[in-house]
Formats: sequence, structure tokens, C-alpha cells
Amino acid sequence: VIEKGTPARSVVTTCAYCGVGCSFKAELNGDELIRMVPWKSGAANRGHSCVKGRFAWGYANHKERILNPMIRDRIDEPWREVSWEDAIEFAATRLRGLQEKYGQKSIGVITSSRCTNEETYLVQKLTRAVFGNNNTDTCARVCHSPTGYGLGQTFGTSAGTQDFDSVEQSDIVIVIGANPTDAHPVFGSRLKKRLRAGAKLIVIDPRRTDLVKSPHIEAAHHLALRPGTNVAVVSALAHVIVTEGLYDEAFIRTRCDWDEFQQYAEFVSDPRHAPEAVEELTGVPAAEMRGAARLFANGGNGAIYYGLGVTEHSQGSTTVMGIANLAMLTGNIGRPGVGVNPLRGQNNVQGSCDMGSFPHELPGYRHVKLPEVREIFEKAWGVEIDPEPGLRIPNMLDEAVEGGFKGLYCQGEDILQSDPDTKHVAAGLAAMECVIVHDLFLNETANYAHVFLPGSSFLEKDGTFTNAERRINMVRQVMKPKNGYQDWEVTQLLANAMGGDWTYTHPREIMAEIAATTPSFAGVTYDLIDARGSVQWPCNDDSPDGTPLMHVDGFMRGKGRFMITDYIATEEKTGPRFPLLLTTGRILSQYNVGAQTRRTENSIWHEEDLLEIHPHDAEVRGLNEGDWVRLASRSGETTLRAHLTDRVTPGVVYTTFHHPDTQANVVTTEHSDWATNCPEYKVTAVQVSASNGP
Ligand code: SF4
Repeated sequence: VIEKGTPARSVVTTCAYCGVGCSFKAELNGDELIRMVPWKSGAANRGHSCVKGRFAWGYANHKERILNPMIRDRIDEPWREVSWEDAIEFAATRLRGLQEKYGQKSIGVITSSRCTNEETYLVQKLTRAVFGNNNTDTCARVCHSPTGYGLGQTFGTSAGTQDFDSVEQSDIVIVIGANPTDAHPVFGSRLKKRLRAGAKLIVIDPRRTDLVKSPHIEAAHHLALRPGTNVAVVSALAHVIVTEGLYDEAFIRTRCDWDEFQQYAEFVSDPRHAPEAVEELTGVPAAEMRGAARLFANGGNGAIYYGLGVTEHSQGSTTVMGIANLAMLTGNIGRPGVGVNPLRGQNNVQGSCDMGSFPHELPGYRHVKLPEVREIFEKAWGVEIDPEPGLRIPNMLDEAVEGGFKGLYCQGEDILQSDPDTKHVAAGLAAMECVIVHDLFLNETANYAHVFLPGSSFLEKDGTFTNAERRINMVRQVMKPKNGYQDWEVTQLLANAMGGDWTYTHPREIMAEIAATTPSFAGVTYDLIDARGSVQWPCNDDSPDGTPLMHVDGFMRGKGRFMITDYIATEEKTGPRFPLLLTTGRILSQYNVGAQTRRTENSIWHEEDLLEIHPHDAEVRGLNEGDWVRLASRSGETTLRAHLTDRVTPGVVYTTFHHPDTQANVVTTEHSDWATNCPEYKVTAVQVSASNGP
């Protein structure tokens, strides 16, 4: 229900859904929020928004929000509401007890890419300065951790190279493994505008997304590859560019390591990487690959945008490096209209990674093993930091099952629903002796929790989010926290109950600490962001006004580095029992596991997850439109309705993961990216058969 009225005041803040980071004016009558109006001065959205940001904030007032802390001794007992003091004391005593009994490294945290920079900074600080270990990981583990690794290796920093404005100067755009019109709608609209104005488009995606063909837009090439073969396709494009002499030698000689380029050129020139050699493997006609490579190399300013269809694979990091290779080969780095642009899924994925949420990196992507880096934080925090990297989320769960990992503080993340192989996640959580869930709602993970700490919504807090273009936007408090505390305050309460001595009174003080310890944030202050509206990091003495375009004169690591990208087939194989390949994605009106969008009172949110299946595959199974089907894999099975469409090719099926009734991740596998453990959500061998329903 969208309420009308004349606002008495407004507060400019930032959307808490996707990585576009749209700015909004929250309009209020008294303390009542009546609507969200896209802010015309917002640099990421310039007065535009999508249906989620504009209307899907009703969850903040939803009746299912939990506003009082709750505890229980065992997960089979009912919850007991208690005071904040008692809940924090209960949690702190349990966590300390576990460390005394099982060791300092027996507990850890999961930070949230939905929370602010300041909140995630404090949660990783809690782990390192109070728990005394590096067992901190982020939900970015399951989405863009390969971006962190791949762009770090090739360019020297784990971030997209451009701002969104850049697309307006692109002549040729590759969109690979991304569906921006559904998942990043405001950027998707800007991209479509540029395409309507004449830019050419290459889509690399197993599914025919709206970008491939919609009114006034038609991709020059749609490489509808078989899921799991990204690396082979990207190497085939590079093969054509190198063997046909289409690469930008001047750029490579001045900006990249020439010796490494020569090794890469020799590698990728091998006939096994030729389009004709990988046509059968990838399912993409060789002529399409050759045409796409020539168009990209000769087409002027070339930009590459990618999403989770690149990262969530066993070779996610390899594909990211292959994309970086393509951009360097063609000299498409360091000016408007070009670049490598990861489209971040959640509002603050970029920020949570920047803030040191990974178990091997302190804020600013600096390895915890480096004594000179630890020293900065040891001085700032007055503690000694463990030099050994901690556990990633999958390792926490594995060690929990094996009996060594016992306690978890999970802020703003429903790992039971969002992580792969649900049965294994449940087994890991069930084996822990203290699970603390800090969230708005009693989510699925909370079924295994001993402490529930109510979270605050984005409307109730101050802080910053960093969007996909490294833009730091202000999040401003629109209303007082319904639960009594902003999330950063709860983390501070827990830290102090466990022996810390934290005295922050406002998130601006946390940002000041981030700036003092993290070179790329050295010039960032709330005053600067207030004055400019937003600022893109790096922001420091070298770039006092921030950095819209990166790597303009040189790469962050010095010379750009070509990486060898051998294709290695996923271990997930089709066969007689599981002959189809499942891949997944989002729809426009829902967001991730739907915890917020499903709780906004508007009928358009109530769509169900459907299984897209090609009419040919449906016919041989006797399936019709709307039939209930059983979707089964080696990991598990679920039930949903079939939607017959030629958007997917024969042999490939597709679904979304927004509804807990479907629990698509029951069927996804334990396979993950070789470098980062990012789960391989996008390739699951499945069988589809008729069902009578759930
Ligand atoms: Fe929010 Fe993303 Fe929509 Fe913008 S495009 S309003 S950030 S969900």
C-alpha cells in the first residue's frame, strides 16, 4: 500500500537493495515515512529508480519484524524474550566459554553486504581485536569474491574500473553473465539508452535475456553458451584477437607486462582455444565467437559488464581474469567508455569487501600476513593481530560438522537459505553451540540460533554504502531504530561485553578510523560526502575529490598482468540420471531470498519461483505450462511450477531463488571456485519430472 500525503520534511538516503546505489529522498509526515522519491542529484541514478527501491521499503514496518532480543539454551526450546543487557551478556558468556573450552579460533563472524561500511568494519574488528582470530567472512564469499581475486591479480585492486556515466561513451558493450534490466534496473536503463543511441552489444549468457532482443534493441551477437564454459568462450575471443593481430600493441607495451603478454599470447594462440575447437563444448557457433571478437576489438570504446553468471562458477576467478585479459588486449582500460565493470549484487558488496571482511585481508585488501599492515591496525586498536588467515564460510561449516568450530555471530545474512547445499549448511549450524543471528526477521538460519538480536533497517541508521562504481553514498537515519539500537551499536555492546573498550558515539567516528587506517579512504569524511553528495574511492591526497575512473595512467599494481586462463571442466557432470543443467538468476520485482520484498504489502511482489524449461525438454517429459514439476539433483530436490519458454536452450533449465517454499539451493552443489570458494550456483546437473505439487 503506497500512502499519499504532503511531506513535512525529507531525508536523503541510499537504497538498500542492489549495487547501483540509488539516492532517494525519504519523505515524512512527522515520524511517518510516506514515500521514497528518487533524488535528482543522486550521481548513481540521477532521479531514476526501480520498483524495489521506490516501493519495497514497507518491510521496515512489517509485523513479523522482531524488536526484542531473544535467547534459548537449546535450539529445540522456545525463544525467551529478554532485555538487551541479558541477551548481550548471554551471547558474550557463551562465546567466551567456547573459546576457553575449544580454543580462540573456535568462533567467528559473518558480515553482511546489506549493512553499512561502518557496521562491517566493526564486525571484522570484533573478530580480530576481541575474538583474537581472523574468522571473519562476508556474504560476498557467495557472490563476488572471484572479482576480488581476479581483478586484484590482473589490475591490482578489487574493484570495477569505471563510473556508470562511462557507459554513455561506449561504442561496443559486452554483457556477460549478467541481466541488468532485472537485477540492476537503473543501470540497465542507462545501458539500454546507450544501445538505442547506436552502441553495439554482445551478450554472453545461456539464457536469452531482455537485452538480447527487446523493442529497439538487438544484440549483434548472443553467445548462448552451455553453463560452465565461460572460460572457454572468453579464451576463444582472445584467441581470435591475438591470432588475427587485432590487439592493441601500443597499449600493451606501455601499460602491461610485455613478457607476461607474450606468454599469454602463446598460450591463447594454441589451436585448442580456437572457436572451432570449442564450438561443441560451449554450444556456441564458431562464427558467432569470431564475429563477436572482431566486433569488440575493432568497435571503438569497448566496455565489459559482468555479474554472478561469471563469478558463481568453479572457474569464477579464472573468468574474471580472462575478462581483464580481454580488456587489456584491446586497450580498453583507463578512459571513459571502456573498462571492466562487475555489477555488484547487493547494495554494499563493494563496501563489505573494502572493509576487511575477508579472513585473509584487513581493510583495504591488505593481507593479514604482512607485518607492516598488521602494525597499522595493532596501533589503532591496541591489540596484537593474529597473522594467520581465518576460516571462510564453507570452512566454518565444514569444521563445525567435524567438531572444531563452535560459535558464530551472523549479521544480516540468512546463510541457510542463501548458501549452497542447504543440508550441509543445516548440519554445520546444528553442530555449533552458540549461533547468534542479528537480523530484522526470524530467518531460516534463526531456526538454528541460540541468540536472536533484532536488527535495524536502513531507514533507522546512519552510515555509508559503497556501490558498484566505488561510490560512497550516505545512509541517513530517517526514523529512530524500532528495536532500540543501530546495528553498529549492537556490535559495540557485544565487543565491550567480551572485554573491549569501544567508545564510538556516531558512525562518523568509525569512518574517521577507517580513513586513518586505509589509504584508499584516507580523504573520506562525512563532511566531504555531504558537500559533494558522494565520493568514489580512492579518495586521498593523490585524488582529493575521489576517482571516477581507475587505472588512467597506470594500473594500481604498476603494470597490468595477463593471466593464463586454462579451461578446466566443472566436476558437476550431466548423465542419464541428471541430464539437464540448471542455472539461476533474479526477477525485477524480487530481491535475493525475498526477506524484504516478500514483506512489502503490494501484490506485485507475490510471484513464485518458476522453472523455465525449453518446450522440447518439456514435451519429452510430458509437461505443460504451469504444471508442477520435481527438480532433483545429487544434493536434493524441490517442487515448483514449469514455465515453457525458448529463452533457455534445450538441455538448460533456469529458476530464481526468491521464495523459501522453493529453496532452490536445496539442489545446488558443494562445488566452488578454486581460488575463493565462491559456490558454483550456476551449474547444477538436474532432472525434471512431473509432480503432484509440494
Ligand atoms: Fe535500489 Fe538497485 Fe533499484 Fe536503484 S536499481 S532503486 S539501488 S534496487
